[in-house]
Amino acid sequence: MATAAPESISITRTSNADGPRRSRKRARGDSSLLAQDTSSSEDQNVKRGTGELQPHETFWYEDGNIILTAGGVAFRVHNSIISRQSDKLRGILESASAEKMDGLRVFQLPDTADDVSAWIFFMGDIAIKFSLVASLLRIGHRYEIQDLLDYGKRRLQECYPNTYDEWFCAPDINPSKSAIVALILARKIGLTTVLPALFYDCCTESDLDVILSGVRRADGTLDMLSRDDMQACLKARDRLIKENKTVSAFLWTLKCSPRCKTKQECREKFREILELAHSVGSFSSPAILRLPMAEEPPANRLCSECVHMFKKERYAAAQHAFLNLPKYMGIDAGDWGK
Ligand SMILES: [Zn+2]
Repeated sequence: MATAAPESISITRTSNADGPRRSRKRARGDSSLLAQDTSSSEDQNVKRGTGELQPHETFWYEDGNIILTAGGVAFRVHNSIISRQSDKLRGILESASAEKMDGLRVFQLPDTADDVSAWIFFMGDIAIKFSLVASLLRIGHRYEIQDLLDYGKRRLQECYPNTYDEWFCAPDINPSKSAIVALILARKIGLTTVLPALFYDCCTESDLDVILSGVRRADGTLDMLSRDDMQACLKARDRLIKENKTVSAFLWTLKCSPRCKTKQECREKFREILELAHSVGSFSSPAILRLPMAEEPPANRLCSECVHMFKKERYAAAQHAFLNLPKYMGIDAGDWGK
């Protein structure tokens, strides 16, 4: 989703080799893990010609997770969308030597700003602005315009994919409200493969009032879930809270890798992971996929053997939970997980 960009930004080089920040799915609402605000004042008012970059007025998405720069202009965009354009681009984006700004990897392109802007427009990243997708779907459905329906379906499937790996990297589209609107549209056009991920976002990201009272568009129109979907959301929310204990059970039994050479320190870190999850309410939340990340403290301070093992166990738990979303929610979602 595009938002007002800061007046100017600068690039700082860091020695931190972490990957890009990922989407909302792992940590929103989890205060200890919240992403930093990239529009901090110290990033602003840096002089052009000495590293200053002007954020592009349109292609600066609040939830973008990488920054491309070209001709003195910065584009904050989505890694998953850019990297799927070509093998060459994927190779560039996987490069570990990218510069960083506030934790986001920055890639300096040799192209002009106009060329990059035209390219981003062409590949449709702008359509991640969800209100636009929703408008196209409503028009497409009402007047039976297949091109618009196909386009809207593709965008919904990109934002609410049916495999865990794709879902984890999917772009964030202001889920607190958009999921409600997307669910209404998915029902309207009969797109069942997105339903579990949509219900999950509705259950975990929306406050109850949004589920019950609906979402108002800029022009005042009210979008409300059907009574059945409203009830399904509330039931699914309760079920997810119950399932949370099973999904996060692995956190209670974490053990050091047999190859760990710093068992005492790593045991302490495992205990901290558990304490942190407990302190932020992770075990009583419907957000069963928001598990502690290996790339974030305290897990990232485990030894390399233990962090590898932690990643494996976390992935298995999240993958299992994701595959079971239709069951937890009582939804038939066709080829879910395939
Ligand atoms: Zn260890």
